[in-house]
Amino acid sequence: MTIQTANLGFPRIGRNREWKFALDGFFAGTLTQPDIIAIARDLQIHNWKLQAEKGIDIIPSNDFSFYDHVLDVSAMVGAIPEGYGWSEGPIFLDTYFALARGMRAHKSQDGTIRAYKPALEMSKWFDTNYHYIVPEFASDQIFSLTENKPLKAFKLAQVNGLHTRPVVLGPVTFLKLGKVRDGAIAPLDLLDKLLPVYVQILSELSLAGADWVQIDEPCLSQDLSEFEQQCFLRAYGAFNEAVPALSIIVANYFGPFGDNLKTALSLPVAGLHADCVRGDFELDTLLQEVPDSLTLSLGVIDGRNIWRADLDRLDALLEPLRKREQLLSPLTKRTGHNIQLAPSCSLIHVPVDIASEDELEPGLRMGLAFATQKLEELSNLAQVVGGKRSEVEPKLRASLQALMARRNLPGCYDRSVRGRQNRISSDMYWRKSRYPERRRVQQIKLGLPLFPTTTIGSFPQTAEIRKARSDRKKGLIDDASYKKFLREETKRAIFWQDSIGLDVLVHGEFERNDMVQYFAEKLNGFAFTKKGWVQSYGSRCVRPPILYGDVSRSAPMTVDWWRYAQSLTQKPVKGMLTGPVTILNWSFVRDDLPRADVCSQIALAIRDEVEDLETAGARIIQIDEAALREGLPLRKEDWRSYLAWAIEAFRLASSGVDDTTQIHTHMCYSEFNDIIEEIIAMDADVISIESSRSKMELMDGFSNRKYPNEIGPGVYDIHSPLIPSKEEIEKLLSLALERLDGHQLWVNPDCGLKTRNWHEVRPALVNMVEAAIRLRSQTAVAAQ
Ligand code: GLN
Ligand code: ZN
Repeated sequence: MTIQTANLGFPRIGRNREWKFALDGFFAGTLTQPDIIAIARDLQIHNWKLQAEKGIDIIPSNDFSFYDHVLDVSAMVGAIPEGYGWSEGPIFLDTYFALARGMRAHKSQDGTIRAYKPALEMSKWFDTNYHYIVPEFASDQIFSLTENKPLKAFKLAQVNGLHTRPVVLGPVTFLKLGKVRDGAIAPLDLLDKLLPVYVQILSELSLAGADWVQIDEPCLSQDLSEFEQQCFLRAYGAFNEAVPALSIIVANYFGPFGDNLKTALSLPVAGLHADCVRGDFELDTLLQEVPDSLTLSLGVIDGRNIWRADLDRLDALLEPLRKREQLLSPLTKRTGHNIQLAPSCSLIHVPVDIASEDELEPGLRMGLAFATQKLEELSNLAQVVGGKRSEVEPKLRASLQALMARRNLPGCYDRSVRGRQNRISSDMYWRKSRYPERRRVQQIKLGLPLFPTTTIGSFPQTAEIRKARSDRKKGLIDDASYKKFLREETKRAIFWQDSIGLDVLVHGEFERNDMVQYFAEKLNGFAFTKKGWVQSYGSRCVRPPILYGDVSRSAPMTVDWWRYAQSLTQKPVKGMLTGPVTILNWSFVRDDLPRADVCSQIALAIRDEVEDLETAGARIIQIDEAALREGLPLRKEDWRSYLAWAIEAFRLASSGVDDTTQIHTHMCYSEFNDIIEEIIAMDADVISIESSRSKMELMDGFSNRKYPNEIGPGVYDIHSPLIPSKEEIEKLLSLALERLDGHQLWVNPDCGLKTRNWHEVRPALVNMVEAAIRLRSQTAVAAQ
């Protein structure tokens, strides 16, 4: 049996983040358009050759993108809202980047004045940390092919001697990810108008010599309505009819097909890709149900995590393949070439290469596989499954050794952590009293006015702060002078907050590089890479911590900074922590323990910090759960179990304090209706959320469900450089008051202010405080 190896997509940022620097250079004006086009070309060619060298049989093209692969489709099919400088023909890079990043008012080359246009919205790509640019359609949208991007990439590979399988995002998923501006119709109502453009793209590819095309439809991992399933049949029926010579493989990833399998199997396509990491239990069904005529691509190497694969386990998992082979009659026998082994999804969600990580603990390093190593794993696995085990025996042995080393890694099993987990008792999830009683005693202790004002935590991370941090890292300044500098920043922030009359202050988080990394660096059980970058969006990359061991806290992490800040003012300063679920969701997490267990370990560590802050005198402690929602499973039926352990972890982290200590939480998104019960179950005394853009309609859910505790709906959109006026803030507050009780309402921005600058933050917060004061006096007059 011979088995092919296929890849679905390779990281486009480059081994040394070449693409990030190319984009940054272009945006800063130090690189020209031809410069970055050349860099893009070289990177693609490099990646193709690398994949060929690693023995990958089927290499993707068009997996590269200048900014985002969803935006690429919007641009390619002419789904470009008005005002970005395009009406027909090819899309130029300035329009493309204007869609991604917004556009300042300027005079264009033809002399016309172009008005300011904001960037299109960004949203998370399924349950990953990658952000895509949300396609925006008009209800009378017309689609047309502006430029066949996959064709261009296919030809570029061709002239470099490589025959590739172009990748395109499928029409159903593409439309489903978008929104229609006036909301008069659903995006998928536009399908029939979109299909001819796809047909043209596919026909041109076929004409140019492409035999296979990979069409990504990860929405097959989600709950699909009857109508959406029909859309699949319409789309792929149309492709089959128009371009019968082209073989299409529909790729589903991020989850099993589940009840969409029937639809997937009825599509007139030549192949299906299945995510056999998240959907490993589906493999048997697939092998039974997928007819021999269909090529099956089995995504067995984890594209979402960085752990080295257990090749022997995978070999065993794939045993049914061989059995089936033996059972089949000689006539219908699979010849083997219609099975492909692949990563579960595109490799853009993992870093490029482990090679540069020479500072990692060797035992840990051995246990890791980044994109490049995953390609090697695929080749080796294909040999093993194909019956050529002896040829890769040394590699198998190395892989086994690595797995053993990982298991015995110091810190993977910490007796005291496990013991503590076993001793978690049910009372640890509960505050001493229920909320009304807590509110009473907190009111006495805190003495806050009606509509208390506060901010979410961070203040601007200025160029000076970033420079000080990088100087410290390079050893140009010592720890003492770095800390002294940060103390000065903190002092200034506290004095300023006091001076404008904010009620609850924050220390400003100047000492934090990132809300997760800061804690991960102080906790046991985490490791950090030097170059383990993963694209977050466009030119922005993140380097998620690696959570490899049992998590515990050796010493207080935030108490000193809090104590210093509190020493400067009489007003309460919030203790500021990142919650267990967010730390978990923004890290690469060990795969040898259930996530729920890992999360409870983090929760215990945070609980210790909460208690230490309380002992030090903190009256208010905020535990941010910014990433709670994005960890939601793709299928509704899996939500409950995730939410159950996630909420438990938050309660475990937050419930160790006295009734008088006020617990806050913060979440930065604006969809709560479907998880409102869980939000209530978190039982934080105060929750702050993002809501200024929703005009407080978001509060409907909280009001319908009579949300019992206090709440601060954001009244200042921190994603925008605009400064909200007093009147705008008052308007939002009065809208909130139509839905909430006066004593429930807090006044705060949508999120932290670290991405803004002080010129924006100062007047905005002054306006916010004044709006709250005015509202208080109006309420007092009304009460008389
Ligand atoms: N406390 C954090 C801050 O203000 C919260 C950030 C977030 O929610 N993303 O920066
Ligand atoms: Zn936030």
